[in-house]
This record gives sequence, structure tokens and C-alpha cells, in this order.
Amino acid sequence: MTGELTQRVTRVKSMIAAIAGGTLPHFIDGARTPAHNGRDFDNLCPIDNSVICKVSAGDADDVATAAAAAKAAFPAWRAMPAARRRALLHRIADAIEARAEEIALVESYDTGQAIRYMSKAAERGAENFRFYADKVPEARNGLSLPAEQHVNYTVRQPIGPVGVITPWNTPFMLATWKIAPALAAGCTIVHKPAEWSPLTAALLAEIAYDAGLPKGVLNVVHGLGESAGKSLTEHPDIKAISFVGESLTGSHIMVQGAPTLKRVLFELGGKNPVIVFDDANIDRAVDGVAFMIWSLNGERCTSSSRLLVQKGIEREFLAAVAERAKALKVGHPLEPATEVGPLIHPRQHQKVMSYMTIAREEGATVLAGGDRPQGLEAGNFVSPTLFAQARPQMRIAQEEIFGPCLTALSFTDEAEAIAIANDVRYGLAAYLWTRDVGRAHRVADALEAGMIWVNSENNRHLPAPFGGMKASGIGRDGGDYAFEHYMEQKNICIAYDTHAVPRIGIK
Ligand code: NAD
Repeated sequence: MTGELTQRVTRVKSMIAAIAGGTLPHFIDGARTPAHNGRDFDNLCPIDNSVICKVSAGDADDVATAAAAAKAAFPAWRAMPAARRRALLHRIADAIEARAEEIALVESYDTGQAIRYMSKAAERGAENFRFYADKVPEARNGLSLPAEQHVNYTVRQPIGPVGVITPWNTPFMLATWKIAPALAAGCTIVHKPAEWSPLTAALLAEIAYDAGLPKGVLNVVHGLGESAGKSLTEHPDIKAISFVGESLTGSHIMVQGAPTLKRVLFELGGKNPVIVFDDANIDRAVDGVAFMIWSLNGERCTSSSRLLVQKGIEREFLAAVAERAKALKVGHPLEPATEVGPLIHPRQHQKVMSYMTIAREEGATVLAGGDRPQGLEAGNFVSPTLFAQARPQMRIAQEEIFGPCLTALSFTDEAEAIAIANDVRYGLAAYLWTRDVGRAHRVADALEAGMIWVNSENNRHLPAPFGGMKASGIGRDGGDYAFEHYMEQKNICIAYDTHAVPRIGIK
């Protein structure tokens, strides 16, 4: 380690000690709160799997306390005038920006994501708050629907306390992406962050309260999915669950939430295709393909993990992509030059490495990576990997690996590309590269995915809907779409007193 890196590690460790104390507590009703049962679990550092801190292991009792706080805070939060709520959400954004460096360092150390990407975590989190702050005045807006002798109008009202359950891949950004619209809608929240990366959720709650958020409006309960997460989805006072995570967990949540008829907003897994036609701008396509699989360690729901290349350019294109994979700088996530860091947890490392064996057994060729990088024997490092000569039904072409592994397939024409792209259970995102405008429209229309990018990597636009089809999700985040989840639509019908009211029971 260079002297500079050693200093950065020392700084982040002292930041974490300040956030976690002895054991990272829950944050309930505006106060740091230890677990009822006194239990905890270890939070590991992806770089060497040493213990970063202990974390309170929440259970049904902790969730009940947090839900009660969220319920008690709801009436006053719902009634807060829009101008005040808007100003408060902007103050939270200011406070996030003021602690940007701390958020970046802690997030990077906790998740293994390279600091070059995590340095934008606070900026993006603050943007989410500002965007939804400015939407507060219109959150209750509805429609005017005049009829012949009545007028109908709709208003939206916050649904009540909601549960937010988030994964470990980009935890700060995802938490703000969920929490900001819920607060803007007028909901109160119980947040259950991922057990493998709990730190920046704790930081967000602290920042929000320092900025003036009333107590009980945002509560955080740490813990395992099967206990804290499950209890949250079952709690009768929690009116809706906004969840980001694996498709299988989404199914469990639907079952758990069924007795209380929980409303759900799900952002789930993906096996997103990137289709490169032979008329594409090859240089830009290579950039886009490499970025969308190997940035964020490939631990990204919208990563383009299936590369579909048209036959005529297959050899040349794969050679260029393999060259990129081999040149990527894998290393310590706090090193500014690092492009790929360690995966989040030994279990995720084991899962991703198992696909190296599966790929070879299935008969695919490994054009790059396929192993642990040399010199990085500790921690959860994986070499950026390119599997080629895969067939569409292979497991490496069907299953979400959620690591730095790209599976390349080839196709002959447009129809075959669409058929292969759609032949998976997922439907989150898709990318296509072509200079033919007509084809871009035809293929975009035919692809089964909630988000399509043409001649581009994933470019975020906050007013646009974000979410997936098929096993990739239910509902949409983003823009006004998120309010569909956090608010009830109410229709009010008023007569002009001109129509004939049916008369019954008259002598
Ligand atoms: P995960 O489903 O294992 O866990 C996500 C969260 O759910 C965690 O907080 C976990 O504790 C909790 N949980 C687990 N079991 C639960 C249960 N029975 N009841 C309630 N909560 C439970 O997912 P992960 O491994 O943390 O994250 C990776 C997954 O997230 C990938 O599939 C990825 O594609 C997906 N993801 C999707 C998006 C999107 O926008 N579509 C974004 C990021 C990540």
C-alpha cells in the first residue's frame, strides 16, 4: 500500500468508528437504538474480509418499535405544508453534499466498489433529494374529469408508513432513490438496508435528522433479510413495500405480504442484453459494452451481461472487448486508479467463481479472466471475464451472475437477435448499437425490457420511468411514476344538482 492509500484507509476506519460506535445501532424515532435482543452480526470488509464493525441484528420487536414510530409520525408529516417539506428535502440534499467525501470513502470501503465511482454517490443521492423536493408541490395533483351532470376530480394522498428494503450493490444511491420520493409523497419510512453494506444507510438517517427531519419520519432497522426484512413485510402498519433485490426475494416478499395485502414496488434482477449490429459505431460500442459490464464490479442491476454480436464483426469486436477486460485495473477500491474492486462478500465471490467452472463445463471459451487476479489472493477479487462461443440456453447466458462476467453470443439477423435477447426470464434493461434508425426503432419496440438504451450506456434521467418487465420487477420508480406507489388515488365526484337522483321506497 502506498503512504497515501494507508492514510485514506486510516481515515475511513475512524469515520466508520464514529458512525458505528461499538455496534452499529438501529435508528428509531430519531435516536440511535440498540437491538432489543442485544444480538449482532459482523460486517466484513471486501478487501480482506476482516471485520469492519458489528451491526445490530434486528428482529420483529425492533421492526414493531420502528413501525410504531413511523405510524406516530405520519399524521404530522403528511400535514406538513408543501413549501416546508420541499425546503427540508433540499436541506437534506445540502447536508449530503457537505458530507460527500465521507459518504464516498465509507461506501467504497463497505462495498468494495471503486472510489472513482463512489465519489459520485453523494452527488447522485443529493440529486435524488433535490429532484423530489421540487416535486413536492405537485405530489397531490390529480385530474379533472368532467362528466355530463357531475364533475369528477382526483387527488393523491400518501399511503401511510412504508417499508424500504435495499440491496448491497450501490446502497447509498439506491436508498436515496427510494426514500426521497416516499418522503416527498408524505409517507414515513422504515428502512431495512442490506446486511452486507449497512453503513451509509445509518449515515443517511443521521444526515436527514441533522438537517431537521422530524423524529420517526425515517427509521432504520438493520438485520438479516429472513428476520428484520421479513418482519417488515409482514407488519400490518406498513402499507407498502418498496424493494430492490433479487427476483427470488421479491417472490418471498409477495408471499409474506399477502396476509396484509401489501402493495409492492419491485426492482429485481436482470440478464440484460447488449446487441451490436455490424453497422454500429464500433469504437463507441466497445466503450459502452466494457463500461456496462465492468464498471461497479459488474454488481449492477442494469449491467449488460449478455453481449449479442452480429456474425460479420464477431471476431474483431470480441478481440477489442477482451483487450479491454485484460487491461482493466483491478485493485484496492480506495486507490483512485482502480477500475474494478473486490466483490461484496465471500459468498458472492464463491457464487461468481462457480460460474467460471460452469462456463467451462458448458463448453464456452474464456477469452479473458476466468480466475482470481494474480497478486490479490486475499479478499473477494475476480478478474474481469469474457465468455465467448456461448449458446443462448447455457446457464451463463440465462442466469444473473452479478459479477464482472460478460457472456458473448452471436446472431445472424435482426429477428434472431430479438429472439435471443427476449429468451430469458428477466426484462430489466437492453442496449442496442446500430446506425440504422429504422432498425433502432423496430428492435427497441420488440425487446422485452423496461428500459432500452440505443447507442448509449445507461444514462440516467430522473423524470423517466425506471424498472423492469417479467421477472425484473413490478411498477416503476422515477419521475411522477414513483408516486403511484407511495400514494393513493382518490376520486371525488360532485353533482351539479341537476340530474335525477333515483327515487325508491315512495308510496
Ligand atoms: P437480496 O434479494 O438478497 O437482498 C436485498 C434485500 O432484501 C436485503 O436487504 C436483504 O436483507 C433483504 N431480504 C432478503 N430476504 C428477505 C425476505 N425474505 N424478506 C424481506 N427482505 C429480505 O439481493 P442482494 O443480493 O442484496 O442484491 C442483488 C440483487 O439486487 C440482484 O439481483 C440485482 O439485480 C438486484 N438489484 C436490482 C436493481 C433494480 O433496479 N432492478 C438495482 C440494484 C440491485
